[in-house]
Amino acid sequence: MTLPHSVRIREVGPRDGIQSESAPVSTEDKIRLIDALSETGLRYIEAVSFVSPKAIPNMADARQVWDGIKRNPEVFYSALVPNRKGAELAAEAGLDGMQVFIAATDSYNLSNVGKTVRDSMSDVEEVVATGAQAGIPVEGTISTAFGDPYEGDVDAARVVDVARRMVGCGITTISYGDTTGMATPRRVRDLIDSLRRNLPDLELNMHFHDTRGTGLANVLTALELGVDYFDASVGGMGGSPYARGATGNVATEDLVHMLEDMDVSTGVNLESLLEAARVAQGFIAGELPSKVLKAGPRWRLSKAAG
Ligand code: MG
Repeated sequence: MTLPHSVRIREVGPRDGIQSESAPVSTEDKIRLIDALSETGLRYIEAVSFVSPKAIPNMADARQVWDGIKRNPEVFYSALVPNRKGAELAAEAGLDGMQVFIAATDSYNLSNVGKTVRDSMSDVEEVVATGAQAGIPVEGTISTAFGDPYEGDVDAARVVDVARRMVGCGITTISYGDTTGMATPRRVRDLIDSLRRNLPDLELNMHFHDTRGTGLANVLTALELGVDYFDASVGGMGGSPYARGATGNVATEDLVHMLEDMDVSTGVNLESLLEAARVAQGFIAGELPSKVLKAGPRWRLSKAAG
C-alpha cells in the first residue's frame, strides 16, 4: 500500500472547537490559541466563522479575533461562512480563504440554517461570487456526509449529488464532515469511491470525528485511498452544537503523532502542538479528549521503578 508522502492538515480548533463550547471563551484566549497554533508548523488554520451571533455567540467577536492575531505569512487563515453576508464580512476582514457549508440532508440543514439543501445552494453561489470578486478562494464543506442524527445513514449517492451541485456553483475542493461521528472505514471507502467515480477532478478533504472511536481508522482508510488533506482540532475540541453527545473532532496531535510515525510528513512540530493544546485546555471547561495530550508521545519514557 502506498501512502501519500505528505498531507495537509487544516486546524479547525479555533472555529469548530470553540464554536461548540457552551461557556463563553474570551477574545484574548482565542487570539492566544491561534497564535500558538500558527507557530507549530500548521499551514492551514480555520480561524473564525462569520455566522449569526445569535446562533453561535462564541463567534460574535470573529473580526476582533482576526484583527488581534499575529499573522504568520506562512499560514493560510480561513473563515467558515454560511451566506453572502458572512462572505462579505470575511472578504472585508481580509481572510486568506473561506469555506461555505451545506448539509447532505434536509433535516440537518433545516436545523442548522433553517433552509432545505436546495434553497441553500443559492447561498453557495453567492459566496462563490463574493469570493471571486474579492480574489479569495472558496472551498466547500458538506456536513452529515456519513450520517444524519435525524435521518440515519446517508447514502453516498446523495452526498455525490450535493457535491455535484456545489461543483456546478464553481467549487473545486470539498470537505466531507462526519458531523455526528457515524463514519466507519467501510463507509469512508464507499463515499470516496463514489466521489472519485463521479467527480474525478474534485479535490477531497476529510473532516472526521472520533465520537465512537473510529476517527483515526477512518483517516487511515482515506489515506490508503490517496486522500492527503484532513481537518483536525487541537485537543480534540468540538463536535456539533446541534447533535447531542457528538463531541470530539479527531485531535490534531493524535493525527500528527500517528502520521509522522508512518513517515507521512505533516510539517507540524508535535511538542509545539502539545503546547498549543495546553493553551486550549487552560480555558476549556472539562478535560480535552486528545489521547496524546494525556499520555504523551510514544517516545516519552516513564522512569523505571525503584
Ligand atoms: Mg467538526
